[in-house]
Amino acid sequence: MDSQRLYERARNVMPGGVNSPVRAFQDMGVSPIVVKRGSGSQLWDYGGRCYQDYVLSWGALILGHAHPRVVEAVCAQTQDGTSYGALCELEIIMAETIKNHISSIDVLRMVSSGTEAVMSALRLCRGYTGRSKILKFDGGYHGHADSMLVQPGSGPLAFALSGSAGVTEEVVCHTLVCPYNDLGAAEAIFKRYGEDIAGVIVEPVAGNMGVVLPQPGFLEGLRDLTRKCGSLLVFDEVITGFRLSLSGYQGVIGISPDLTILGKVIGGGLPLAVYGGKEEVMRRVSPDGPVYQAGTLSGNPLALAAGLAVVRELMRNNHWEKTLEKEAIHLEKTLIEAFQEVDIPVTINRIGSMIGLFFTKGPVEDVHAAKNSDLSLYRAFFRELFLRGVFFPPSPLETIFLSLAHDSEALEKTCEAIQESARALRKIGK
Ligand SMILES: *Cc1c(COP(=O)(O)O)cnc(C)c1O
Repeated sequence: MDSQRLYERARNVMPGGVNSPVRAFQDMGVSPIVVKRGSGSQLWDYGGRCYQDYVLSWGALILGHAHPRVVEAVCAQTQDGTSYGALCELEIIMAETIKNHISSIDVLRMVSSGTEAVMSALRLCRGYTGRSKILKFDGGYHGHADSMLVQPGSGPLAFALSGSAGVTEEVVCHTLVCPYNDLGAAEAIFKRYGEDIAGVIVEPVAGNMGVVLPQPGFLEGLRDLTRKCGSLLVFDEVITGFRLSLSGYQGVIGISPDLTILGKVIGGGLPLAVYGGKEEVMRRVSPDGPVYQAGTLSGNPLALAAGLAVVRELMRNNHWEKTLEKEAIHLEKTLIEAFQEVDIPVTINRIGSMIGLFFTKGPVEDVHAAKNSDLSLYRAFFRELFLRGVFFPPSPLETIFLSLAHDSEALEKTCEAIQESARALRKIGK
């Protein structure tokens, strides 16, 4: 049985042969990986090939695959039941742990995916303020709730257009879009629609247009605008929460949003996400308040066992951020030098253990600049790395992630593959 034959079977029974589009490796020029096993920093496919993994379940696996403490915690929990549909202690411990680390969160609710958390938080913004409009930023990804599947419209109105078949104009007519890092544009929108804006949702560090850092003053400006106009500020920290610090990116820059979304790392590789924030706002959620939201598997004990094992491991190792950052800096430096050597311009946006790689002179400060980079060169680089056993994101404009499982041996192998791949790109005349 090889990966190729399995993938053909998959295509017969699932759209694109996958359960999330990016796994289909569209336009990447290689057949998608079919995973047999993951351990530490590595993945194995059915052909017996091994890959150093820098996708890490799209950032969820900060400890790497099958970390012994996570495996142990999940196995132990299965003995006591896998879902209760009733309150259990793990939920309380997790809620208290999050609240202890993220000072903007007084009260929170657990759900099963980032999409669900975003959808619920936006409903809460509307329910709390009695307003209808939501402002998001072009290139920001907040899951696949209808109102977030938009593209910017043309003209100064900043109203969104549908970004997917099946998402009607009626659904997106309350979504406003403006460029990331463009505080002036956000101010103009607030001038015009401020009274109608229920909330602003933003990735405090953008991780879904490659990595794009907030310019100084951007997030502070959004905090001021929303406060002045009585709108809620929502930080989508699904990627950054528990990755950039135990208190998220908000803890790093010292800005307090009204609501925060967590996901990915907090579930330790199982389905768990959170929305939470100010007491006064969160008490509007059912059954304390009138904003309805529910879930059969919400606060699932297996996901909580995994998530708590991850958080405890991070707390135990109080230099984890520095360790991850050191790995990331090493990788960044190798990428820069490898492409310098072959005269290919690259821009790297890095923060902590998140790396964005763009084939352009740069700078890259919004999705427009990101998309104007050489995406086909990224794809060629991906292929060269993949053939050498290194798994970078199988789509341009995603984040390269590090985990604590990437030891110096893994990194050395990766760096060699990067150098060889860069030289291969020069040879094929890119
Ligand atoms: C992944 C992601 C989501 C969606 O989370 P899912 O669990 O995939 O639904 C939302 N926001 C951001 C910033 C993300 O990176």
